[in-house]
Amino acid sequence: MSEVAPAFRGPIDLHTHSSASDGTETPYNVVRSASEAGLGTLALTDHDSTAGWPSASEAARDHELTLIPGMELSTRLDHVSVHLLSYLFDPADPALLAETETIREARLKRAHAIVDRIAADYDLSWDDVLAQTEPGATIGRPHIADALVAKGLVPTRSEAFQGILHWRAGYFQPHYAPTPLRGVELVVAAGGVTVLAHPGTGPRERVIPERRLAQLVDAGLFGLEIEHRQNSDEGKERLHELAAKYGLAITGSSDYHGAGKPNRLGENTTGPEVLSQLIDRATGWSPVYGAVTRTL
Ligand code: AMP
Ligand code: FE
Ligand code: FE
Ligand code: ZN
Repeated sequence: MSEVAPAFRGPIDLHTHSSASDGTETPYNVVRSASEAGLGTLALTDHDSTAGWPSASEAARDHELTLIPGMELSTRLDHVSVHLLSYLFDPADPALLAETETIREARLKRAHAIVDRIAADYDLSWDDVLAQTEPGATIGRPHIADALVAKGLVPTRSEAFQGILHWRAGYFQPHYAPTPLRGVELVVAAGGVTVLAHPGTGPRERVIPERRLAQLVDAGLFGLEIEHRQNSDEGKERLHELAAKYGLAITGSSDYHGAGKPNRLGENTTGPEVLSQLIDRATGWSPVYGAVTRTL
């Protein structure tokens, strides 16, 4: 009889959201769903919040899954929103904590402004949005979308995004976010590891040309999320070339939002050697190994 401590097990999905931001399942239930979907390792990456870490960690222990606590940090460049997946950083790091608080406040103000504009044309109130939002959650357009659905004004969250909440519809407003470079610096200083989320879409490729990517690499960027359903085929090709040139890791993930988005858990996955590098590089926090020891 021997005991083994599995570092982590696959399949590995490094991008998911819970009701701590704009997913529809609680952090605990996201991990449970991952276990039911047959995943071995999961990162919880709520927008600008680590509020889900404690209950996701508990769920990882209950379901013998490896959890990589993470976050998807909002950043912005030239009016384009750029998401930065951030893993295993110190959640109490003062500078990062202050920045995420600032972003969440800006998101709240901006959501109010969007709702005010919509309310001029539709029967929608701030209370309708609050009814769709877990207390303390990072608020975003998805909560407004869910309120529009609850009011019967649109059939689904995705259709709300294609219609009323689309920037072209006239109700949209951006919110404050730091630059991607500042984001990488903050997360790296907090001992974390950064991966550019879904970078292979038109606008994001435009704002992150090779020169800017090189700056992010200099600041410590670890990888590119290439396997993601939003990246175009041409985008993926370009990103593979850049990853090879700059020695960047390649990740794949689902960007699961529960019932809020069609993305399914494990629809894209990350290789174990990449996860191993990611864990080795992090100094801010540790993975939760749900099955610390297993008796064989
Ligand atoms: P916001 O950050 O408030 O501008 O809203 C954009 C966010 O909505 C992105 O992070 C998307 O992942 C998220 N989102 C969640 N569900 C959907 C959906 N069904 N369609 C489009 N975006 C969605
Ligand atoms: Fe989201
Ligand atoms: Fe994103
Ligand atoms: Zn995401």
